[in-house]
Amino acid sequence: MPSPFVPRTRKVRILATLGPASNSPDIIRQLIEAGADAFRINMSHGSHPDHAARIEMIRTLEKEMERPTTILADLQGPKLRVGRFAGDKAMLEKGQTFVFDRDTTPGDATRVNLPHREIFEAVSEGTRLLVDDGKLVLRVTDASLDRLETVVEVGGAISNNKGLNVPDAVLPLAALTEKDRKDLTFALDQHVDWVALSFVQRPEDVAEARRHIAGRAALLAKIEKPAAIDRLDGILELSDAVMVARGDLGVEMLPEEVPPLQKRIVEAARRMGRPVVVATQMLESMITTPSPTRAEVSDVATAVYDGADAIMLSAESASGQWPVESVAMMNRIATSVEADPSHAARVHFTETPADPTTNDAIAEAANKIVETVSAAAIVCFTVSGSTARRVSRERPAVPLLVLTPSPKTARRLGLLWGAHAVRTKDVSSFEEMIGKAKRMALRHGLAKAGQRIIITAGVPFGTPGSTNVVHVARLVGDELDRHKKNEA
Ligand code: PEP
Repeated sequence: MPSPFVPRTRKVRILATLGPASNSPDIIRQLIEAGADAFRINMSHGSHPDHAARIEMIRTLEKEMERPTTILADLQGPKLRVGRFAGDKAMLEKGQTFVFDRDTTPGDATRVNLPHREIFEAVSEGTRLLVDDGKLVLRVTDASLDRLETVVEVGGAISNNKGLNVPDAVLPLAALTEKDRKDLTFALDQHVDWVALSFVQRPEDVAEARRHIAGRAALLAKIEKPAAIDRLDGILELSDAVMVARGDLGVEMLPEEVPPLQKRIVEAARRMGRPVVVATQMLESMITTPSPTRAEVSDVATAVYDGADAIMLSAESASGQWPVESVAMMNRIATSVEADPSHAARVHFTETPADPTTNDAIAEAANKIVETVSAAAIVCFTVSGSTARRVSRERPAVPLLVLTPSPKTARRLGLLWGAHAVRTKDVSSFEEMIGKAKRMALRHGLAKAGQRIIITAGVPFGTPGSTNVVHVARLVGDELDRHKKNEA
């Protein structure tokens, strides 16, 4: 029998974006060994055959390393862009007038085409238009359905197809563009575990994407628009997870507004029991240098102290010069923070009161018993993963070993704080449940002879959504000997 994977002692998960810098089985293996729990495939870049090849590499390594590995496909979403210019670019001066219109002839220093009807429909006098990640700022002075006159507040060079942000308006855009629909069909055919939805503005966007996904993957909503912040609870309600997408959020909001928002989103997601990923520029300088700035280290540490479920690398692991070192650095920072005696108290600063459900009653009881009897681990039998999510929501002091017959569930749990998901055969009796929990805790190095484990399960066995049992078991010596004989 191959040796089981060794669970990481780290609670926070590491999500690494793949790209040209991480394009071989060897590098992906090194990323996993350095600490990556989950991989992001960014649909804004690369071709379907490239993505398919990477997904295949991950699935092959997953089998070889016996470690369920999570794949998230990140859809580009309705990325807005300006049209093209004669001579490819123009210079805009502060105070001048500049017009966006529906005329497709190349632009100049007075006007350019804006190929998005929805913007004309939604903006009005006073709305800001941000070009090129907010480097240029223009304010609308006169708006009609085919012409937006603006005054340039911050000038600079504007060139072909530069990105455009409209932070002050809710745009009547569909949640999925035509490209997103094609990318989504591809990603679902590839059996990705998660789909990330970009530029979510309202809960209805999430509902629409959910209809398309139809349960074939879990859905993560990227929070990067002020409109999404205004509807955060509704979006959380309909999503399986959220991401604090600080890149675009930092363009649409003032930079100093992002840290309080990060705290608010992480807290709201944790309360509701939705995994939350903190993303973008976490170790940005490691794109080109082998060590991060001290401020970046502090930024990663803050997300860990806040109790985020996962921290993410973007260009650092996708196109930077030090992909493996970036993951290793994140792992070192997270491990150091989690070893700080004040870590648990800081994480529990966010209160997560139980909902009046059986699941939460069991989750709360399991966490309480761990403290009372100093148990070594919680072992959670689950089909859908929902009990594991509720147990993790309370941020247990000990590892959470999730036993599930579903490979899909095991992989989806790769974004969940403190969870080690293992695929096993279902159990059919109470004795079998206890025996298996003990064996698996032992086999994965999460408990030793003499220690107690807390088991949660549902009776009748194998029925999704039936968790109703919490049991305390002690691992005793002769059982371990029997276990060793069985394993031999
Ligand atoms: C972000 O904007 O922070 C983000 C994660 O999205 P993307 O990398 O797709 O721009």
